[in-house]
Amino acid sequence: MVLLPGSYDPARGDGQPDGNSVLIRAPQGLVVFDTGRHERAFTGRIIAAADAWQLPVAAIVNSHWHLDHVSGNVPLRARWPQAKVYASPAIEHAMRHFLADSRKGIAARLATLPADSTEAGYARASLARIDAGPKLFPTDPVLASGPVRIAGMAFHLGLEKNAVSGGDVWLLDPSTRTLLAGDLVNFPAPFFDTACPRGWSEALGRLDAQTFDLLVPGHGAPMTHAQFASYRLAFDHLLACAAGEAAVADCAAGWERDLGPLLAANQHALSRALLDYYFRNVLRAAPAKRHRYCQAS
Ligand SMILES: [Zn+2]
Repeated sequence: MVLLPGSYDPARGDGQPDGNSVLIRAPQGLVVFDTGRHERAFTGRIIAAADAWQLPVAAIVNSHWHLDHVSGNVPLRARWPQAKVYASPAIEHAMRHFLADSRKGIAARLATLPADSTEAGYARASLARIDAGPKLFPTDPVLASGPVRIAGMAFHLGLEKNAVSGGDVWLLDPSTRTLLAGDLVNFPAPFFDTACPRGWSEALGRLDAQTFDLLVPGHGAPMTHAQFASYRLAFDHLLACAAGEAAVADCAAGWERDLGPLLAANQHALSRALLDYYFRNVLRAAPAKRHRYCQAS
C-alpha cells in the first residue's frame, strides 16, 4: 500500500487541492483509493506508479464526489477501460445540483476574464472536470456498508450518507489494519461546504469503532488510532464551540489545542481562515443553511 500525498496551498496554481490517493497492490491489479483533481500534476503520478509496477488499475474507490477526489477517474478509465469504480451514487445528485451551480459560477467568471489569461485556463479546466459528467460516476454503486472483494482482495466498505457529501465511502483493509477515511478526516480543518455537521460527528463515532492501527485522512498525514481519537474529540469540541457564544478565533484556538502536534504550526493560518469561512457560511449560518445537507435518517 502506497500513499500519494495530495496538497493544498490556496496561494499556488489554481488554488484548489488534490486529495490524498492510496494505491493498493491486489491480486488482480491496483486498487486506487481517490484519484485527485489535477491530471498532469497528480493523477499522472498514479499512472506512472502503475506503469512502474507493470500492474493495471483494476479498481477505483472514490471516497466522495468532490472534484479533488474523482477528477482523475477520467484519465485512469481512458487508460484502463475495464477498471471498476466503487463509489456512492450521490455524485449523480451533485451533478444536477451543487456541481451544476458551481459550473454556472465558473462560467460567469470565465466570461469576465481575458481569454488568454492563466485564470481563464484554470476556469476552463474546472468546467471540463464537471463536464466529464457520467465518466466520473461509479460502475459499481456503493449502497450499503459491508464486506466486499475488490480486485481479488477482501475489504470492508463503509457508507456514510449524512456526513461530508451525502455519500462518503471509507475503506478498511483488514490485512494491514488500515482505514482509508477520505474527507471524513481532514486537515487543516473539516471542509463543511456540503456537510451535515451533526451527522458527520456520528460517522466519526462509527470509524472509531473499527479495528485499525493506521488511518489515512482525505488531506493530511496518516495517523494512529489514538491520534484519530484526539481528532474526533477536537471535531466534537469544534461543533460544541460553534453552537455556543465564543468568538470564532477562540474556537479555532481550541481546535489547534485539541489537535496539538497533529496540526503543523505552518497550517494554523490556513486552518483559521477556513474555520472563519465555515463559521460564517455553515456552522453559524441560519438554521436552513446550517442543516441544508442533513437528511432525515
Ligand atoms: Zn477533499
